[in-house]
Amino acid sequence: MADEKGSVLERPVSVLKGVGPAKREALAKMGIETVGDAVRCWPRAYQNRGDTRTLAEIAALCADGETGPFSAILTVSAEPKGRYIRKGMHITTAKAFDETGAVSVTWFNQPYIADRIRVGETFRFYGRFEWNVQYKRLSLNSPLTEPWKEDAALPAIVPVYPVTAGLTQRFMIDLTARAVEASAGEMWEILPSEALEDLRLPTYAYAVRQIHRPESVQSMETARRRLAFEELWLMFLSMAKNRAETRRRSGPLCLGNTDLGEFLRVLPFTLTGAQERCVSEILGDMAGEFLMNRILTGDVGSGKTAVAAAAAYAAAKNGLRTLVMAPTEILANQHAEDFRKLFGPLGIRVALLTGSTKKKERDEILGGLKDQPRIGAGISILIGTHALLTEDVEADSLGLCVIDEQHRFGVMQRAALFEKARNVHCLVMSATPIPRTLTLAAYGMIDVSRIDELPKGRQKISTFVVNESYRERLNGFILKQAEEGHQTYVVCPAVEDNEDTDVSDGEEMANLPLLDAMGDAGLPMKSAKQTAEDLAAALPGLRIGFVHGRLKSAEKDRVMNAFAEGELDVLVSTTVIEVGVNVPNATLMIVENAERFGLSQLHQLRGRVGRGTAKSYFILVSDSKNEEAQERLQAVKSTTDGFEIAEYDLKLRGPGDFFQETGAIRQHGQLNFRLAAVCRDPEMIERASYYARKTAEEDPGLNKPENARLRERLGEFGRKTEKIQN
Ligand code: ADP
Ligand code: MG
Repeated sequence: MADEKGSVLERPVSVLKGVGPAKREALAKMGIETVGDAVRCWPRAYQNRGDTRTLAEIAALCADGETGPFSAILTVSAEPKGRYIRKGMHITTAKAFDETGAVSVTWFNQPYIADRIRVGETFRFYGRFEWNVQYKRLSLNSPLTEPWKEDAALPAIVPVYPVTAGLTQRFMIDLTARAVEASAGEMWEILPSEALEDLRLPTYAYAVRQIHRPESVQSMETARRRLAFEELWLMFLSMAKNRAETRRRSGPLCLGNTDLGEFLRVLPFTLTGAQERCVSEILGDMAGEFLMNRILTGDVGSGKTAVAAAAAYAAAKNGLRTLVMAPTEILANQHAEDFRKLFGPLGIRVALLTGSTKKKERDEILGGLKDQPRIGAGISILIGTHALLTEDVEADSLGLCVIDEQHRFGVMQRAALFEKARNVHCLVMSATPIPRTLTLAAYGMIDVSRIDELPKGRQKISTFVVNESYRERLNGFILKQAEEGHQTYVVCPAVEDNEDTDVSDGEEMANLPLLDAMGDAGLPMKSAKQTAEDLAAALPGLRIGFVHGRLKSAEKDRVMNAFAEGELDVLVSTTVIEVGVNVPNATLMIVENAERFGLSQLHQLRGRVGRGTAKSYFILVSDSKNEEAQERLQAVKSTTDGFEIAEYDLKLRGPGDFFQETGAIRQHGQLNFRLAAVCRDPEMIERASYYARKTAEEDPGLNKPENARLRERLGEFGRKTEKIQN
């Protein structure tokens, strides 16, 4: 290997010892193809096995209701015995002790363990302990068992890697060790030294070693901080660079006339201050030197449509067409209705094109798109769904593309969407309130407008957090809404199918909680289907509909429409469909397993009720005992300001969700973004953005010799991202 030319990092991972064709294939599934990928396969968590305790201490903790995992240095006192208790179920039992007590140990389905353990030998055991109150006895189930020698200390903090079928933890530990060793000569520093000093971050080489084999919890955290900062910085840098490269002059699309006089006259309300500000930011862009690339964020109901309509009006006045794209047919219909009401009196023609538009009408519309749009003639505004994305939809004189709730489009559709919008002014609308920190971070890459004020007279929705003991009362409340002629949404978290991707080897059998394990992954979760069935049984008189992600879209639309038309009293759904309809008659929303949802997501769900005149309620059901989970739910209860909730969410969960959901950062998938996604330090995000802009300004093409390594890394970063997209 030593005499080969080029970077070790770029060689296929199979140059490392132990990686044959089968492993190579399994690794490729996780996106690990080169030695560099293996170096940057960060542990997903750690086990702290170094914090050892005596059995007496453990017994006391267990008696208090704690189960560990705990670590203890114990000597085996009874020969391990293995037997099958039934077909396919093998157990091995043994006893072990220290100077303070004894424990009986059991391993399931690890028959080989009996050969590894002898009476009189000492091991480090790490696992869940249980205290039997009746017999006053301690037991230990399927612990990790490592031979212990006084002078050759075992590592205290052990990494846990992401794995997939065909890969074990042991293999990943060896693999990453070899990858790090092989590339020891190529641990180049790419961060500006100024940034390292400013944030007191360690070097790349140190961080890589410590994240894989931490000496202490602290050094592991320092390493993560450094690498998270690097991810953020690379991402912002690639956005800044991308923007500089793709920014196009507006040329003939630069609006000469941005007067809204007539539009404001027909608008049935006066714009809020926030709406006015956003409109003027948008018109400023459209009358500027470069094409607009802006995201408009604001709570559900904050009036984004009117702002987009103002932009469409300005475009129409200047002889330019607007394309408005919505993720669902229902939303497209609603936009078409709103726009027609507004623009009809102004002689501006609005057309709607969706999957259900009849061929004859479709042909007519497509034909109409060839003419120059003028006020009083031709189609000025075309509204639709992804049906607009097919190749035959060729709009001449296109000037503005408005994309509503882009995060709800599929990945492929999104790519096509932005392709359409590439040479025109582009406005993305999102109900995900972006925290101010991230707005700052994104500044210079995409422009952000915020509608942070709701139109006057909106009613407050009463929010409650309850647990399972309220079930009967909840059902009674649903019934009451129905009797008053109102409707109820019941929202359940989607059951994830990928929960078994961590294939366990012997080591992981213990299924131990991890150092940074979050939330209540273990809490029993009722499926949406079960919820619908239970409700039907409890409330036999009500008409209950059920939609979930796996339904065909026609069937989904049918049920949703039935709910919108008042033909159903209750709609049970998973968030896969995000209840994106406007049903003013719905007055109650119940969210099951609320601890599973992001705060901003909950906040958006809440926006689905309270759209009519009747008093509305939002009830979060959660049995979680987790303090943080409860605190989060209380935060949703205590404020109705989406931006405030977003700040809170950012602090608790890091920017991952926002990066996923907003157009600003749409192109970056999780793989490149594993550490930064849970970065909970707003200052880091801001500093990363600052230094990225600085680098991009000083050396836009990254052509300076000192930036050569950086250019390589950024290229690699981009390639990975593309792969995720495809
Ligand atoms: P969203 O931001 O969720 O897209 P919409 O644009 O659909 O919100 O607006 C929600 C409702 O508020 C609509 O019925 C709209 O007519 C109304 N609305 C918007 N702006 C104002 C305003 N300035 N004053 C009063 N009502 C408004
Ligand atoms: Mg909207």
